[in-house]
Amino acid sequence: MVDMDTLVALCKRRGIIFQSSEIYGGFGSCYDYGPLGVELKRNIKEAWWRANVQERDDMVGLDSAILAHPMVWVASGHLEHFNDPLVDCKACKRRFRADEIEGDRCPECGGELTEVRKFNTMFKTFVGPVEDEASIAYLRPETCQGIFVNFQNVLMASRKKLPFGIAQIGKSFRNEITTGNFIFRTREFEQMEIEYFVKPGEDEEWFERWIEIRLNWWKELGIREENLRLRPHPKEALAHYSKATTDIEYRFPFGWGELEGIANRQDYDLRQHSKYSGRDLEYFDEETQEHVVPYVIEPSTGVDRAVLVFLLDAYDEEPDKDGIRVVLRLHPKIAPIKVAVLPLSKKPQLCEVAQSIRKELSRHWMVDYDDRQSIGRRYRRQDEIGTPFCVTVDFQTLEDKAVTIRFRDSMEQIRVPVQELVPRLRELLEQ
Ligand code: ATP
Repeated sequence: MVDMDTLVALCKRRGIIFQSSEIYGGFGSCYDYGPLGVELKRNIKEAWWRANVQERDDMVGLDSAILAHPMVWVASGHLEHFNDPLVDCKACKRRFRADEIEGDRCPECGGELTEVRKFNTMFKTFVGPVEDEASIAYLRPETCQGIFVNFQNVLMASRKKLPFGIAQIGKSFRNEITTGNFIFRTREFEQMEIEYFVKPGEDEEWFERWIEIRLNWWKELGIREENLRLRPHPKEALAHYSKATTDIEYRFPFGWGELEGIANRQDYDLRQHSKYSGRDLEYFDEETQEHVVPYVIEPSTGVDRAVLVFLLDAYDEEPDKDGIRVVLRLHPKIAPIKVAVLPLSKKPQLCEVAQSIRKELSRHWMVDYDDRQSIGRRYRRQDEIGTPFCVTVDFQTLEDKAVTIRFRDSMEQIRVPVQELVPRLRELLEQ
């Protein structure tokens, strides 16, 4: 597997991910997505939304605000429980999460550590002109609370019956202590979360189903099976609201780590918000004529962590006559650019035809156009960013109105009439 330094360098060189505020020396664990990174992220979110909302009759979407009433975080337990246990090294002043280090000495310098202190990882801000206790608000540390507090609104508006789910994609913020490993753990990140509401008693079955659905999603988008595993949390390590949690883990270069968490949150959140708001957050079951507080299954993953996993899993190097060919074997659905249009030379007749093809294709997909350097180097550039297909316009094109499609993975080439290019590419991209 590729090492992190090589991947980070590729991301910078090709405009996928940059360190935030780099010209000022960077800013603690924040990253910016470049031209290709934006596309990659959009494609991941789009694939997730399509599978979990568009193609399902039992799911609807939501986009709730980042800022919310502070009571939301009292009711959810975040103000009380969202703490990391912290220790500082008295010698080198480094800070660690107590639950992540072994022994009672500093892992860096062996120095003496302070007592464990609790540290709330929610970012605080002030709403309005006065910075006092009454105006404190928090940046959400997870998107799902916006779903719980809107449960009744969505239920009424969508007229869904149990079981049904609400999906949301959005930014979350955590003042993480131990960051690092590039975009694996950052302070500002995007989450893709589902809250799937079920009748109490059906929760265990749905918990298992969602683990399978979500695991398959990663596999269908090309993540290699041997790099994925399920890790059920031991009972004693469960979060206060959870009856069962299973993580989908990925084999990162630095070891196995969480990619997605699937939790059976029971009726904890709806009951808490009902208690603190005084509002009824029940569901009326017409069959049994009973009011129930639904149980909820939560599959939750991070967009940024998904970006990292797709890149790591796709990275490949193979020897070729010029040295090493670097290929990102991204699934076509995820690849930032679907097709690159390359005139064989900079001759105006070729560029003109190539530009008109680019224009036509860009109505359907993200397309790149490149007429600089040798064709071999241009193919390599596209391989390195995972573009599945290159369309080459050559002098013969002017005669026979046909172009060459070159495949990223096999490097095979086929000749296709320009007229048939869109349907052929569609077929190839949707395989
Ligand atoms: P940890 O215990 O490692 O801090 P967590 O178990 O609190 O993480 P969850 O609250 O389950 O994490 O978050 C759900 C998903 O959101 C994670 O699987 C991960 O993909 C993503 N995520 C959480 N925190 C971060 C972060 N700081 N940076 C990037 N992605 C994150």
